[in-house]
Amino acid sequence: MEHTFDVAVVGGGIAGYTAALTSKNLLLDYLWLGASAFGEKLACAEKVTNFPGVSGRGKDFFAALEAQREREEVLLTPCRVDGIYAAGSKFLLTAGEKTFEARAVILATGVETKGQLKGERDFLGRGVSYCAVCDGALYKGKRIAAVISSPAFEEEVHFLARFADMVYAFCLYEGSDLQGENIEVRKDIPLAIEGNQRVERVVTKEGTLPVDGVFFLKNSAPPGALVGGLETEGAHVKVARDLSTNLAGLFAAGDITGRPYQYAKAAGEGCVAAHSVKAYLNNLGK
Ligand SMILES: Cc1cc2nc3c(=O)[nH]c(=O)nc-3n(C[C@H](O)[C@H](O)[C@H](O)COP(=O)(O)OP(=O)(O)OC[C@H]3O[C@@H](n4cnc5c(N)ncnc54)[C@H](O)[C@@H]3O)c2cc1C
Repeated sequence: MEHTFDVAVVGGGIAGYTAALTSKNLLLDYLWLGASAFGEKLACAEKVTNFPGVSGRGKDFFAALEAQREREEVLLTPCRVDGIYAAGSKFLLTAGEKTFEARAVILATGVETKGQLKGERDFLGRGVSYCAVCDGALYKGKRIAAVISSPAFEEEVHFLARFADMVYAFCLYEGSDLQGENIEVRKDIPLAIEGNQRVERVVTKEGTLPVDGVFFLKNSAPPGALVGGLETEGAHVKVARDLSTNLAGLFAAGDITGRPYQYAKAAGEGCVAAHSVKAYLNNLGK
């Protein structure tokens, strides 16, 4: 780690993009971290008619944003952040082997629209994990299930298989070519997670599968799984009007702060959050 940024924006969707663009315009030293620019939702939106100045396919909106991003030179560092830790007046952000440091953070990681599995939230930290790199080693010699939302996460399943005795892979998409001595691709669909103190089994239509842990490998994890001590309300981060959270220096924007789930609201909040970061840093005398 060589550098402390003014602000790290986490999330490549429209909230994160607008926060990064506004941070740049406010002359903040920003770092924009995300799996990909503009997120996965925009490309699959059939038609967008409710964003000012836009009326057309999601793909065209995506292309217009990409053209603007290039023109304005808003740089994205492609990665998936797996932990955010307050360290004095700064934050450490980890993404696999990489570590970044920033004085403030804007969390814009969106929400998982497909919903959670029964028991998923109850067993968070007691057998449910969202990060193979962070928690994989805890399952040495054990049996785990991995519920995988897209082929982009197959690499993480191989990582888990380095530790676990057996990985049961539930691929929620067509055409997986996952293979491995101790990887079993399941055809049934997970319905619930059950256990007592910790996860003990996955329930499917076909019956129950005894496991010691379940990894959900998907685009958006619950915010509480990413930042310890962050105050949440259900799937959302609790924010004040300036989009500050209960953790000093940590702001949130977009779907993650609650409904309505709309581009206009997400973009507006990205902008407000960047201005709030600027005010926060000014108050600190930065
Ligand atoms: C099919 C579909 C159609 C839609 N159509 C419309 C429409 O017509 N009009 C409208 O107003 N809204 C529409 N929406 C809603 C709109 O997509 C959302 O409101 C908007 O995308 C929210 O933006 P966001 O930046 O908050 O979150 P997202 O777009 O969800 O972006 C969050 C990004 O953060 C990334 N991320 C998550 N966790 C991490 C991490 N740990 N590290 C790094 N990156 C991470 C995710 O991969 C994602 O790319 C639609 C949604 C869907 C699913």
